[in-house]
Amino acid sequence: MKYRVMIGLEMHCEISETKTKAFSSAKNDYSEYPNASIRPVDMAFPGTLPTVNKEAVRMGLMMSMILGCTQPEYLYFERKNYYYPDLPKGFQITQETKPAPIGSFGEFTYELNGEKKKIRINNLHLEEDAASSDHYPSGTRINYNRAGVPLLELVTEPDFRSADEAVAFLEAIRSIYQYTGISEADSKKGQVRCDVNVSLMDASLDDSDPKNWGTKVEMKNVNSFGGVRDAINYEIKRQTELLDAGKGDEIVQETRRWDEESSSTISMREKVDAIDYKYFVEPNIPKFKISKEWLLEIKKSIPTLPYERKEKYINEYGITDYDATIIIKDKKVSDFYDECINLHADPKLASNWVTTNLLGNLNKLELEFDEITLTPKMLKDLIDLVNSKEISSKQAKEVFAEILTSGKTPQEVVKEKGMKQMSDEGEIVKIANEVLDENPDVILKYKNGRNNVIDWLTGQIMKKTRGQANPTIARDTMIKEIEKR
Ligand code: ADP
Ligand code: MG
Repeated sequence: MKYRVMIGLEMHCEISETKTKAFSSAKNDYSEYPNASIRPVDMAFPGTLPTVNKEAVRMGLMMSMILGCTQPEYLYFERKNYYYPDLPKGFQITQETKPAPIGSFGEFTYELNGEKKKIRINNLHLEEDAASSDHYPSGTRINYNRAGVPLLELVTEPDFRSADEAVAFLEAIRSIYQYTGISEADSKKGQVRCDVNVSLMDASLDDSDPKNWGTKVEMKNVNSFGGVRDAINYEIKRQTELLDAGKGDEIVQETRRWDEESSSTISMREKVDAIDYKYFVEPNIPKFKISKEWLLEIKKSIPTLPYERKEKYINEYGITDYDATIIIKDKKVSDFYDECINLHADPKLASNWVTTNLLGNLNKLELEFDEITLTPKMLKDLIDLVNSKEISSKQAKEVFAEILTSGKTPQEVVKEKGMKQMSDEGEIVKIANEVLDENPDVILKYKNGRNNVIDWLTGQIMKKTRGQANPTIARDTMIKEIEKR
């Protein structure tokens, strides 16, 4: 039987760019010393009350607009009641059931291998993160710095058909978080976590009717996009094999864990009945109206998004779709490239340098973008040195490798290495004639039609100048001078 794969994602992204937490004035920075960024309200001390962080709401509304969602007229929060040591209040403030969360029913277009794909967004909601458990040999300690960090959870409809689609979508959303300045969205810092839902259905049936959908399996807290890809592919294989063997009833609605080490999913718990979280509207946060004026203001303040930059690169700068896609993938790289263009670097040359040399070297040397000392100005100067023929493009690559992390400017490296190309034609004419004077027999060969001796003669110029003559100028000069003989 042929199966249709259905994948739905729940993507949690911490808002890292507010100064304070979602409902308290504690610093939104849990990289600090453990339990340094906390306030009594995060610890649920009696008599404390939450205060909504307007900036977090603003960012949530902006994301809601970008995802094509509807924004609510009134904002409510709800309590999701459960106890865990990382949740001292005994409830999480979230937006889960009714009334409307910060975003509902959107649609978003992303690209996979140059093809545009649409995905329906079920909702986007604003909530608070839980504390984190730090494991030590002596035992586990709870660090409450993360408790109350604002979190946006995006829930898609099960519209993805492959792991590649799901990952392309996640990458697009991550870059939007970065471009809008809402979050660093760094999975290495645990800022992005995904729940991945996978099911298989009979491909001959109508997929618009949920009755025909297969039983879904949920993988919770997958914390890298590579993990998402592997977990989906593993589940597709596992479920296909069960269905093919007529063991479809062994696919049960359950939560599985993606285990990085064994590259497989492991059952955690069966979802017999949903846990009853006894949701109710958070009584300590009055509902408040979101004004049309504020929404308009937020809409106007949406910065240029990655796909808009891409269009500009292709249409205005004439660089390829492929290169533009690579550059916009990381905001820092795109900002670097934009700065080069602002300094009037040639857009195509700059794009070549960024995509091949810069990113190539970062990959090869396993460096992060923040670790380099190369500035847009240095790259622009390097391009100019090649354009003015002061150094060859081969030498430029050598200079590039030096200026990437050494803090030196290209001019300094060129000087240190004595690399300057000799482009002074008068000087080269002089040397060409020296070479010809020393080799009358070669001139004779040339006159007898052996044109290829030019290469050897040019080589002699290069030798005399210890490789510093510009090879093109040297060759042209040699032809001109030998013709005069
Ligand atoms: P639950 O009540 O189990 O949390 P939801 O309806 O809230 O389920 O959906 C959670 C996620 O699971 C959403 O991303 C949704 O798209 C996805 N999902 C729902 N049904 C399926 C299915 N049959 N196959 C794959 N994903 C699904
Ligand atoms: Mg759900």
